[in-house]
Amino acid sequence: MKITDIKITPIAVSDPPLLNAAGLHAPYALRTIIEIETDIGITGLSEIPGSSGADEALAEARDAVIGLDPFHLSRIMQTITQQFGKETRAERGLSPWDSRKIVHVQSALEVACLDIIGKDTGRPVVDLLGGPVREQVPFSAYLFFKHRGAGGELEFNTAPKATGWAAARQAEGLTPEQMVAQAQGMIEEYGFRSIKLKGGALEPAQEVASIHALHKAFPDAPLRLDPNAIWKVETAVKWAKELEGILEYFEDPVRGQENMARLKKHTSIPLATNMCTTSFEDLPSSIALGSEDIILSDHHFWGGLKASIELSRICETFGRGMSMHSNSHVGISLAAMVHLGAAARHLTYALDTHYPWQEDEVIVGGKMKFEEGAVTVSREPGLGVELDRTELARLHENYKRCGLTHRNDEIEMQKVEPGWKFAAVRW
Ligand SMILES: [Mg+2]
Repeated sequence: MKITDIKITPIAVSDPPLLNAAGLHAPYALRTIIEIETDIGITGLSEIPGSSGADEALAEARDAVIGLDPFHLSRIMQTITQQFGKETRAERGLSPWDSRKIVHVQSALEVACLDIIGKDTGRPVVDLLGGPVREQVPFSAYLFFKHRGAGGELEFNTAPKATGWAAARQAEGLTPEQMVAQAQGMIEEYGFRSIKLKGGALEPAQEVASIHALHKAFPDAPLRLDPNAIWKVETAVKWAKELEGILEYFEDPVRGQENMARLKKHTSIPLATNMCTTSFEDLPSSIALGSEDIILSDHHFWGGLKASIELSRICETFGRGMSMHSNSHVGISLAAMVHLGAAARHLTYALDTHYPWQEDEVIVGGKMKFEEGAVTVSREPGLGVELDRTELARLHENYKRCGLTHRNDEIEMQKVEPGWKFAAVRW
């Protein structure tokens, strides 16, 4: 079998005005949909975070990969490494966004090839990763402080008849009471059992007040707070004392492995990261410093599903827990996350997903279903999802019309708060 072509389609999906340490989500989140075509008529799908940089890198990789066998994943990964070399930490652009491209290219190619291999052999991707150790993959509710609105063309739709999650998704979320209402709406709809609050947007005292309110409203739910590395070590030490026994884990309260290791000496709350240990190159210093307890993998950032399985083994070996990080995404990424989550033997927490915040979808059948906070892994060949070409075309038109080429939450925030600037450490 040979790869004959790669189609790269950037899309823009509506995204609510969610607040975070880097600013405000734009009305549209960007994703790129990849279709790898083969000489036997099978097409494989994948999805990666959208940026013109990653799309250009994918287009550059296309010529080197056409003609290779989709089964030969090691050769394909090696071809990309040889073509692009390794990205340095400076090239990743860690503040505020990790803008690595090569791992995205590798992830895009690997997932689409696994989809092809699955379709060719009649086996689901989970079977290609070792088979399922769990059929239901649990996810966590992912709460955001937010302004009123639902993003995209719904931005000005006040939806007076909306109820349940449809209403809660549009509502303002700034006070502890509003955050409890957001959690109730999301949990009623999806059945999540763990709750993550994206922090780093408001004063630490306000965010901790929301955690207390959530703890009171959902006493049995494991809680997580993620200030996106914007707190000083002293600030994190102070609030960690108050959050002992309440947080399941504290995600990137401070910036960098050294600061995380310093904080760890002052708290028994497990520390998790998707910011200070985000690639295999970061692991030696992570182990030497003891910078975190849990690594939040992300197959888009670790170079694919097999790389994430390798990471889970390393986490197990070195006593790290493992779970998964997420960005705004649609169903192809979710399907890939579920196959990975079903196959990873060492997966110790419910996974993150932004999925409830997105209304648009590119897969046939619309949004994937959650039951009791979990998604059941598909037994269909490959990823088990099919492209809805009408929706893909519509969302590609959105991309062309919205004018965004990469994520920049600072510019969006400045539209609401003129002069607002991102700060790597704010409180
Ligand atoms: Mg995070």
